Amino acid sequence: MPNRTPNIPIINVEAQHQKLRAEILQALEDVFDSRAYIQGPYVQAFETAFASQHGVTHAAGCSNGTTALSLALEAAGVGPGDEVITTSYTFIATAESILHLGAIPVFVDIEPGTYNIDPRLIRQAITPRTKAIVPVHLYGTPCSMDSLQEIAEQNDLEIVEDCAQAHLAKFKEQAVGSFGRAGSFSFYPGKNLGACGDAGMVVSNDDETIWRVKKLLDHGRETKYLHDIVGYNRRMDGMQAAILSVKLRYLEDWTARRREIAAFYDARLKPAGFQVIEPPENTEPVYHLYVVQVANRDETAAALSENGIGFGIHYPTPLHVQPSMQTLGYKTGSFPVTESSADRVISLPMCGELAEESIDRVCQVFTSIAQP
Ligand SMILES: *Cc1c(COP(=O)(O)O)cnc(C)c1O
Repeated sequence: MPNRTPNIPIINVEAQHQKLRAEILQALEDVFDSRAYIQGPYVQAFETAFASQHGVTHAAGCSNGTTALSLALEAAGVGPGDEVITTSYTFIATAESILHLGAIPVFVDIEPGTYNIDPRLIRQAITPRTKAIVPVHLYGTPCSMDSLQEIAEQNDLEIVEDCAQAHLAKFKEQAVGSFGRAGSFSFYPGKNLGACGDAGMVVSNDDETIWRVKKLLDHGRETKYLHDIVGYNRRMDGMQAAILSVKLRYLEDWTARRREIAAFYDARLKPAGFQVIEPPENTEPVYHLYVVQVANRDETAAALSENGIGFGIHYPTPLHVQPSMQTLGYKTGSFPVTESSADRVISLPMCGELAEESIDRVCQVFTSIAQP
């Protein structure tokens, strides 16, 4: 019988919340009493703190990571009929955000060790209708942003980064989100920085871009009842912002711990011949997930379950073969690295609260059954 509640869960939000319980409840009480429930001072305070930690001048809180990417793309000028180059090896939201603007996601394959967009394949995907590139810093591993910036500059393309899994990740000492027109973040509860509900953020160093994002997410307002563009309601709420402000103070420490845990896993699994994540040179990855490839995934998953160890598969079905994406016209075989990764990856427990003896136990069970 599979264990329903693993004693080593893949992520442990409960343990994190236990430690922060008093601080978070106090913050919620403050918002409750202030009545600043939607946008307002708590959202502004969080935007300022988050922007400063990421070395950008502006941030706009919004309703979730999917709307964040969509708002960032719309503010960057992406619209109906535009092509946007990204990968199929990501969470579905990346492509949904593009499609909701009437634009077309154009997929290219990933690099084998980083799982990120392969810059060498981008040029051949560019057409006269290409408007933007959306690099996804998957699993918290930064893309090689200098190659992407070079391609974008030469072809007059926008870069909008999907940083949903990469809070505080750096490429050449610069935080992700700041390499192009804008970057989007998610604060879904299981992300490296998670709300107790949905929330997201757009960051940018460009005044005009953030101004457009802020206007779009709040009904296209010029003043309270004058609306000069058709916008949305995609605002962030005060309670989530207050919770996130508390948690943001711990993010550096949690991130450092994630790196330690990854190093610990790497030291055990690499010598045994397993393909682990290989971040590019000059990057500081943040290990949203610890992903390793196995030849016998079903067997490995069953053994982990039997031993009370949580795991995940991120992601078993690439976007180009998803039923909802069939109108894009791709088929199985289009992206070999993406497809073989999707067949072989498994994510092991990873979070700031994971104890050393738990990692040991995971490695023991994993290496006793998994084949590289
Ligand atoms: C989580 C995620 C999103 C979407 O974020 P939500 O807050 O869940 O809407 C987008 N892109 C990637 C890569 C993600 O992992």
